[in-house]
Amino acid sequence: MIKKFLKRVFRKSAKVRSSGNAQIIPFELHGVSSDQISYGGKRVTDGLQAAGYQAYVVGGAVRDLLLQRTPKDFDVATDATPEQVRRVFRRSRIIGRRFQLVHVMFGEEVVEVSTFRSLIEAEDAQTDEHGRLLRDNQFGDQEQDAARRDFTANALFYDPATQEIHDFHNGYADTRKQVLRIIGDAKVRYREDPVRMLRAVRLSAKLGMKLEAATEAPIAAMKDLLENVPQARLLDEVLKMLLSGHSVECIQQLRRMNLHHGLLPLLDIILEQPMGEKFVMLALRNTDERIGQEKTVSPAFLFAALLWHEVLAAWNLRVQQGGRPVGAMHEAMDEVLGRQKAQLAIPHRHDAVMKEIWLLQQRFEQRAGQRPFRLLEQPRFRAAFDFLLLRCASGESDDELGLWWDEFQDASAERRAEMLQPEQAGEKKRRRRKPRKKPEAAAAENPAA
Ligand code: ATP
Ligand code: MG
Repeated sequence: MIKKFLKRVFRKSAKVRSSGNAQIIPFELHGVSSDQISYGGKRVTDGLQAAGYQAYVVGGAVRDLLLQRTPKDFDVATDATPEQVRRVFRRSRIIGRRFQLVHVMFGEEVVEVSTFRSLIEAEDAQTDEHGRLLRDNQFGDQEQDAARRDFTANALFYDPATQEIHDFHNGYADTRKQVLRIIGDAKVRYREDPVRMLRAVRLSAKLGMKLEAATEAPIAAMKDLLENVPQARLLDEVLKMLLSGHSVECIQQLRRMNLHHGLLPLLDIILEQPMGEKFVMLALRNTDERIGQEKTVSPAFLFAALLWHEVLAAWNLRVQQGGRPVGAMHEAMDEVLGRQKAQLAIPHRHDAVMKEIWLLQQRFEQRAGQRPFRLLEQPRFRAAFDFLLLRCASGESDDELGLWWDEFQDASAERRAEMLQPEQAGEKKRRRRKPRKKPEAAAAENPAA
């Protein structure tokens, strides 16, 4: 009671003050305590400040803490150059991407430290013919560093030593109102970097923030600019959407904004599969749930799900033309993956796992003799089984099959013996059993039929 009362009195007396162009918001107003900063994040800001530099926790972490969410990681921004940061922390290394950053290691935790930088002044800016910035690596001060960021909620600096937030763009008020607002003129900012349009979709879906009207308005007319963005970066962003824990909302939002067309072959596949839509949406929902429960999600599993109905269609075609099921499956997989590779959509390194998951689907049908036991020993059994459950839930495969495997996995030796299906008399070792249920559906869709 008293605590609450004191808090209220404090809040009333605590005031935002100005420092240059920044508003300084005290702890009593925002309530984010330095205890909420990760061990590494705190060590880095402390270490840099002790060495005489400015250092703040910045970006997504501050935003997430204000929204009462657990940050994924803690990034730090400083006026120290990468070499200077490197000298302060023994366990650190400079990594160079578009801009040099320093990674400081604390056991499992890696804190990313970036030096304040500025948008390059208009006359010096290197842009492509559409206005996209090709280079933005110029050191700057804190205020410039705030201005080059995308959304006001992403441009807040938190000082763990004073527990104050430095805010140059009214991001604190926006975050409180759960509004996602671009910094500066939306058209200019999307032209500089069209990926910001996708970030707007992803962050608003993931954080439940409303896109401010002027931030949203130009997107419909500007979406074609995404074609000029390198595929690898687009894929990166699409993957972030799919693995955001809110992929279903992201996809719905993309559709609403009519951003889903021609964006990326991968997304077209997701959104334009008439048959597979239910399956794909289930897979995405399932992924969202797993991420919500902090379980791991394998991108290969997700890709395998996204492409499954394409593989099925290619397989069906071959079987109708007289191909043998397993051989047809190999050809179908290669065809679909080949198409993907040509479009640069899905990284090649996931191929092997995707194929294993797909191939094992056929083997779930074989429930006699030693074969189920051999299947259980497959390293990808778990993933393949989860995949089977999605097929059952989407109506493509019989529930009974999923239930059978669910029980068989953990059953006692006696129970397993009871569950095994009899080898069919006269069945040759490699001949497939005829479908036992729903023969028409199975024939249309089921590669193991
Ligand atoms: P997440 O929770 O997904 O990590 P995030 O906002 O932290 O969200 P990051 O990609 O980690 O996203 O970027 C860190 C910070 O860098 C952002 O908060 C933002 O300030 C800035 N930033 C990232 N991408 C852009 C961009 N395309 N344009 C301008 N600023 C960006
Ligand atoms: Mg981040």
